[in-house]
Amino acid sequence: MAHDVAIVGAGPVGATLALALADADLDVVVVDPRAPGEVARADRSLALSHGARLVFERLGLWPGLAATEGAVTPIVTIDVSQARGFGALTLDAREQGLPALGYVVSYRALQAALDGALRNTRVEMRYGATARSVAGTTAEATIGIEGAGEESLQARLAVVADGAGSSVAGITRTRRDYGQVALVAAIALSLPHAGVAWERFTPDGPVALLPERDHYALVWTQTPERAARLRDLPDAQFLAELAAHFGSRRGGFAGVADRRSFPLVLEVATATTATRVAVIGNAAQALHPIAGQGFNLGLRDAWELAQTVLATPRGELGGAAMLERHRRGRSLDRRAGIAFTHGLVQLFGNDRPWLSAPRGLGLALLDAMPFAKRAFTRAMLFGLR
Ligand SMILES: Cc1cc2nc3c(=O)[nH]c(=O)nc-3n(C[C@H](O)[C@H](O)[C@H](O)COP(=O)(O)OP(=O)(O)OC[C@H]3O[C@@H](n4cnc5c(N)ncnc54)[C@H](O)[C@@H]3O)c2cc1C
Repeated sequence: MAHDVAIVGAGPVGATLALALADADLDVVVVDPRAPGEVARADRSLALSHGARLVFERLGLWPGLAATEGAVTPIVTIDVSQARGFGALTLDAREQGLPALGYVVSYRALQAALDGALRNTRVEMRYGATARSVAGTTAEATIGIEGAGEESLQARLAVVADGAGSSVAGITRTRRDYGQVALVAAIALSLPHAGVAWERFTPDGPVALLPERDHYALVWTQTPERAARLRDLPDAQFLAELAAHFGSRRGGFAGVADRRSFPLVLEVATATTATRVAVIGNAAQALHPIAGQGFNLGLRDAWELAQTVLATPRGELGGAAMLERHRRGRSLDRRAGIAFTHGLVQLFGNDRPWLSAPRGLGLALLDAMPFAKRAFTRAMLFGLR
């Protein structure tokens, strides 16, 4: 018999959707190639907005996650500035009346919390199962499965949250290579970070320092050649170059570990719905990390889809009308998130000197105008709708 909802991928986005549907009278099944207790992306932390925290609070996940040693680091201030140019912007949680502007959360800890919560629900978790194809007819969606002893499963609605979206019939992805790579590393500190995140625009590309436990997580956007050189520099020289980029704004860099780099691309699914199928999270859009919007946008995909499913009678799940409501509801936030991030890359993610003045003016104006600053901060915190 067909399931009501089949979710492909139990990463942070797919698992959030499953949890948001868990209390409803619905037959929900989730497939993921992971083994129980494994995570797909052990190497990273996620930048969570205040809005994302609210979602996890509603799901009852936040208190346990926040109490887990080293899982959550609050960002209370964000300092944005540019090297060799005027203009700076400081965003502060107190100005917004919030405990924090956002959080750096361990992917592993978040995944463990979601998996743990799902264990206590009626949601059927099929680990060790890889979806190879997802296709829909007017009657139902069919997911071709490899592993876990079954060849296919049927559902009224299939949701693809596999981080790549590669298995869906009829949906392709456009890919824009920014020609840049993100060099990431852990930076040990001789001065505590005090919850301050730094975003510094330099002629060599933007540098972000995010407070994480007792150190900073560095994301340094570079050309592939410069990133390769920096990756191989002796520690002391690497730290000296980082300090030079921050000038007098932030110092106390005492050590560097775990240097890695990955290419920066914008990948967007040409459609987020197909017959009986919805695509969410990184499968729908993978963004440049410059504004920390990617995961938050994906999480809103999951939360909003759950609300649409819960408001739809079972017989109409996965039907054209339900999918159209979902697509229309997500369209503005999604397009704005993609455009906002892409616009920031164009304005800040390169070394064209003639952009220095408009950049500085933008930062100075935002900082000087409480209303605009508040609107900007709210967009960063809750998304653009
Ligand atoms: C290189 C890189 C670095 C990043 N760094 C950061 C960062 O520092 N901070 C940040 O906030 N964001 C970062 N992001 C973005 C962040 O990883 C995503 O926003 C987030 O992981 C999206 O969650 P998701 O659940 O959509 O996808 P994923 O986290 O990719 O999860 C997908 C899930 O689907 C499963 N799956 C995969 N294939 C199949 C299949 N065929 N069938 C069934 N299940 C499948 C996987 O096992 C996994 O559990 C980064 C992204 C990339 C590519």
